[in-house]
This record gives sequence, C-alpha cells and structure tokens, in this order.
Amino acid sequence: MLIGVLALQGAFIEHEKMLRSLGVDTVQVRLPGQLDKLDGLVIPGGESTTMGKLMNDFGLFEPIREKAENGLPVLGTCAGMIMMAREIAGSSQPRLGLMDISVERNAFGRQVDSFEADINIEAIGEEPFRAVFIRAPYILGVDGNVQILARHGDKIVAARQGRFMVLAFHPELTRDNRLHKYFLENMNI
Ligand code: GLN
Repeated sequence: MLIGVLALQGAFIEHEKMLRSLGVDTVQVRLPGQLDKLDGLVIPGGESTTMGKLMNDFGLFEPIREKAENGLPVLGTCAGMIMMAREIAGSSQPRLGLMDISVERNAFGRQVDSFEADINIEAIGEEPFRAVFIRAPYILGVDGNVQILARHGDKIVAARQGRFMVLAFHPELTRDNRLHKYFLENMNI
C-alpha cells in the first residue's frame, strides 16, 4: 500500500512517520506525476493560502481533483481540511472543494491560538482522542452525505464523506495512530 503525503508546506513528515508506523509505504508528493499509483493521499496542516498558492504553482489542483473524483481516498488535516472544503467563510482562496462542508479558518479565536482537548470519536473506539488544535478551523456546516465524526463542544471538528475525511486538528502530532488507521481501513484503500 502506498500513501502520498502532499509535501509542499506544513506538517508532512509527521504524517509520513505515523503512516509508516502502521506499515504502509509513503511518498512525498510535489509533482502531478507522483500522484500515480497512490492508494491514498494526505493533505497536511500548514497554512492554507500558502499551500493553495504552491499547489497552483506546481499544477496540482486539477490532477488531485481528477484522481479524487476517480476514487483516490483523501485525508485533510487542519489546513488540509480547509483545502477539502467546498466553502470557506469570507474567503475566495483556492481550494479543492471535494467535500460538501463549509469551514471557518482560525475559528477558535486568538486567545486560544493553540490548545489540546480530549475528543470523543465513536468511530475509533471509546478511549478519547487527545486532539492538538493549532490556529484550527472548524466546520460551520455540512451538506449532502457528510457524516460528522466528532465535535468539540458544539463545533464540528471531524467529518467524512465517502472516501474523503477531514480533521480540524493534528493527529500526526500525537502518538495515537487510531485516526490514520481508521482512514487506511475505512476508505476502501
Ligand atoms: N490557520 C491555518 C490556515 O488557515 C491552518 C492551521 C493549521 O493547519 N495548523 O490555513
């Protein structure tokens, strides 16, 4: 099994480490040709406007969209979640728009730029997941066949739509690999 990690910017190395700890091969994706032969793609956290600009420069938007529409499972975390959203509140920045969700960037406010919280995610078991939020977005609303996987308070912070999955936080910065495992096992990879 080969999982690509978009490696233009942001926390991609940590995703690779976590995926490898689960026994899959990974490849850093910077060029469209590197999307061939992938069984899944991870879009990491970072800064979504910078990532969007680089994706444009590297000609990645259309190839990723095309692969995704033809069956490639995609996991987006934090800035990666923003890239996956159809709608970004108050912004026209470039995005893949693969999921029927609307998101708000930097949505937890300045006074809590970064924080950790225990999140209940039924899909991965009873033990709460220690989620690391860094200038995190959250999901304002979902549409279509989107399944909500987790909330923090009243805010939606994890969701899935078929073979696409998004997390507002950084699962790769913990030692808990259950969400990566869930992605590998449940997206028909
Ligand atoms: N605030 C960032 C953005 O809007 C996302 C933060 C992150 O990925 N840790 O792109």
